[in-house]
Amino acid sequence: MDYDVIVCGGGPAGFGAAIGAARTGKKVLLLDKNSGPGGVAVYCGCPVFSGIRDFDAASRGGVAGEFAQAMEKDAFIVNNITMNSSEFAIGLTMTRMLKAAGVRMLFYATLHTVDVRNGRIRNITVSACGKNHTFTAETFVDATGDAVLARSAGAEILPYQVNETMTKTVLFRVTGVTDFDKPKLMELFPQLDFPFTYQDRFMGTIVGDGNDILLNLTAISGDALDAFELTRMDMELREQIPVVLKWMKEKLPGFENCRLSAAAPVIGVRSSCNIKGKEIITCADLDNNTPVSDPVACGGRSYGEHYVNCFSSPWRKSNSGTRAIPYGALLPEKIANLCVGGRCISIETKAVTAVRLMPVCMATGQAAGVAAALGIPEYSKLKAELQRQKCNI
Ligand SMILES: Cc1cc2nc3c(=O)[nH]c(=O)nc-3n(C[C@H](O)[C@H](O)[C@H](O)COP(=O)(O)OP(=O)(O)OC[C@H]3O[C@@H](n4cnc5c(N)ncnc54)[C@H](O)[C@@H]3O)c2cc1C
Repeated sequence: MDYDVIVCGGGPAGFGAAIGAARTGKKVLLLDKNSGPGGVAVYCGCPVFSGIRDFDAASRGGVAGEFAQAMEKDAFIVNNITMNSSEFAIGLTMTRMLKAAGVRMLFYATLHTVDVRNGRIRNITVSACGKNHTFTAETFVDATGDAVLARSAGAEILPYQVNETMTKTVLFRVTGVTDFDKPKLMELFPQLDFPFTYQDRFMGTIVGDGNDILLNLTAISGDALDAFELTRMDMELREQIPVVLKWMKEKLPGFENCRLSAAAPVIGVRSSCNIKGKEIITCADLDNNTPVSDPVACGGRSYGEHYVNCFSSPWRKSNSGTRAIPYGALLPEKIANLCVGGRCISIETKAVTAVRLMPVCMATGQAAGVAAALGIPEYSKLKAELQRQKCNI
């Protein structure tokens, strides 16, 4: 075998998975099609770890907690409440931590073929710089966000309708804003004739000093698992930016003299599909706070976000508190040597928000990585190692 564990996808989940697996002493490869780790945080321009503090239970332990501490130590955090920083700081910190854990990294490598025999992945092939590379491993982690490895291996995904997944966005930033008052802007937003119907509220966050604002204001619906659709959405979202900019200057108090300072290089996909796991987290579980017998991480209980009110049945629910994420939600049916972490774990489409924030993805990733390193063991063994790694489960 080339590796003990191969982790596909280097976003928050893959980062947690690779470090968790490497800390068991196993030989680990992390691969990603991007030029470094970070996923949405780095390549979709979203250096905002919402909930790294709100989700203290999830984030203060394990790799997510160490990541927060490393960012603090290097003074990389700009806004202490949501842990805003910069893409550079996130990518650098993640790379340093992966290196320190002994993870082998391969970037610029796109997974395209998976060889499965008797319900086990034997090897995967990636395309990188015009060459194909085939790697074998005992176990694999899918941290691609879109369940690319699981789907390629023939694992089932849960039913979903494309136009009922959350909207896609190209994030952008402006500078030169004065007196940024988010609660006031959120209150005003419905009265200000925003030019695009898919956006249902004002979403902006301070990212630099008080004049630099990250805007979550472009929005579109479409199929994130189809490259032609992604291309269409990306182009249309970029065309929305100058229109929104003009609208902001004319209508948004404090934005009269703002200037565009950056736009994300890659479209941001909030959710696409989720695997069908041994256990499926449902909205009812979140509403009722159903007890979890095999907790591996801590998620939220609220669900439904980003223009869900236009879906066939509106489904937004604010439940207070957190709920544990069960081990079974990381284990796809049918593929014996695969674990899944991050936003594509086994959860009803409607409920994805409860598990998709970056600190939570790091935590489910770490659990998936440790489980993979231990050969996907019974729960008690996984729990003991997660506790040894100081995860707050
Ligand atoms: C617009 C937007 C705003 C958001 N705002 C926030 C926020 O403020 N706070 C917050 O906490 N969360 C936010 N989120 C959610 C959060 O960013 C994601 O849910 C989280 O990054 C998911 O982590 P992940 O590791 O599961 O997937 P991703 O971050 O999507 O990482 C998946 C990785 O897999 C790689 N990959 C995919 N396919 C392949 C392949 N075939 N071969 C090789 N590599 C592959 C990708 O390149 C990527 O690096 C936002 C998301 C979006 C889209």
